[in-house]
Formats: sequence, structure tokens, C-alpha cells
Amino acid sequence: MKANFEDLKGKKILVTGATRGIGRSIVESLAEQGAHVVFNFREGKESVAEEMKGHLEKLGASMATAVMFDVTNTEQIKTALDAFAKEHGVIEGLVNNAGISRDQLVLRMKEEDVEATLNTNLKGAIMVSQVLSRGFLRAENASVVNISSIVGLMGNAGQIAYAASKAGMIGLTKSLAKELGAKNVRCNAICPGFIDTDMTDALKEETKEGYLSGIPMKRFGTTQEVANLVNFLLSNASSYITGETIKIDGGLYI
Ligand code: NDP
Repeated sequence: MKANFEDLKGKKILVTGATRGIGRSIVESLAEQGAHVVFNFREGKESVAEEMKGHLEKLGASMATAVMFDVTNTEQIKTALDAFAKEHGVIEGLVNNAGISRDQLVLRMKEEDVEATLNTNLKGAIMVSQVLSRGFLRAENASVVNISSIVGLMGNAGQIAYAASKAGMIGLTKSLAKELGAKNVRCNAICPGFIDTDMTDALKEETKEGYLSGIPMKRFGTTQEVANLVNFLLSNASSYITGETIKIDGGLYI
């Protein structure tokens, strides 16, 4: 089922990491609601971005704009988003979704993997939020959704850096909600459990079976189910919800 929120029509919303998986479903569903969808792509992926732009416009986006930046490169973030603001005005919604996982048991974890995970998942989300915050304050009606993870709440053996980065996003969420709330800028986090994407495809079959047995609903979630929740939090339908952390996990956390 697809949720529909009328007020997202024409809204300028940036989703990071939208070329695949959860991010792709989020931009597709925002396009279907007529939003002005903004998404980033990494250097060298211009043709993927071009294809996506056309796809999103066909789905109904009032406009689709591709901006080139890697979330670990603050200079690129600033250059791309300042240029966007000059041409199109203030971005009113942000989904910090870009993320990686480099899983390893603590004794085998490499420092470069810890750095890459924290830089992408946590520092990247902080820097994109910072660059857009001045505009959010001007808009006086903006919403940020951070894609954390259930392991940010529960921890997970073999995912120390990933879980730490996702727990950090919850601190980011609450702090931004407190700093910007007076100007009607909201910030919430969602904690997906296991969602069918490339990230979970990479798991071994027996690992997947193990996880499934712990999920009361006995299935992984779909990217559309995550997109529905994100759209609700971006829309004014959630106008009095801020600083919240919402699980979407088929009951895994219970
Ligand atoms: P995917 O691996 O399918 O997609 C990741 C996306 O992030 C891609 O678009 C990728 O772009 C982008 N990305 C990665 N690194 C960077 C970077 N440095 N700069 C810009 N973009 C980058 O992931 P999912 O869709 O599975 O996950 C999306 C988010 O949801 C992540 O934050 C993840 O941690 C979180 N999550 C996922 C769960 C799941 O079960 N799948 C569960 C809980 C949370 P590119 O195509 O260029 O590589």
C-alpha cells in the first residue's frame, strides 16, 4: 500500500543515497506525490543520475534535480547545495539515508573501515544537515528524517562501527530537534529492522534465516513500507512530532 500526502506536492526534498534500495523507493514515492525531488550522485555516476531524473519526472515529480556530492566530502556538499539554493531556493525536507556497512567482529575490525562507516553514516548526515540548516530556519516549516537502524538501539555482534554510527544519528536527531524546533523545523529518526535491499542481499542465507526467526512478523520489510513512514514524517501530517525515534522492524525489537 502506498501512502499519499497532499502537502508534499512541489516541496523541495533532498534524499541522499537514492540511487538504490531504500533511498530509491523514497524518491520514487516522493515523485509520485509530485514533490520536487533532489537526490545526490557520486562523481562518475552522471549517467545513472540522468536516468533517474527522467524516471522520477515520469513518475510525477514536479521536478527532479540531481546534485553531485559524496556525503564524506564536505566541500562537494557545500558547492552542490549552495548552487541548488541559488537556482531553486530553499530545500524544505531532508532524508539522511546514504549509508554503508563494513561488518566485522571487533578483534578483526580495521581502522579504515571504522573511519569509512562513521564518516559516511554519521559525519555525512551531520554535514548535510548543517549545510541546509540556515535554509530550514528561513523556511520555518521543514522536516529532517534520519535513517538510523534497529541495531543503533539494540547493538549487534559484528557491527560495532555501524551500530555506533546509527546510535550517533539518534543523538544528532534529538539535538537538531532541540536546536531548530522553535522555528518549526522538525527532526526525527527511523530505525528499520531488516529491509529487502542490496545491503541485506549481501548476508549469508543462514544469517538471514537466523534473523527471520527473531522477527515476530516472520518476514523482512519492503522499501515501500519504509518510504511510507518517511513520507509521513516529511509531511505536515506529523506536524507535532519531533525528536522521535520510530522503529519499523516487524516487531524485531520487542
Ligand atoms: P544500499 O546499499 O542499497 O544503498 C546505499 C545508498 O547509499 C546508495 O545509493 C549509495 O550510492 C549511497 N551511498 C553510500 N555511500 C555514499 C557516499 N559516501 N556518498 C553518497 N552516497 C553514498 O542501502 P540500503 O538501501 O539498504 O540502506 C539505506 C539506508 O538505510 C542506510 O543508511 C542503511 O544503513 C539504512 N538501513 C538499512 C537497512 C536494511 O535492512 N537494508 C536496515 C536499517 C537501516 P552508490 O550507488 O553511489 O553506492
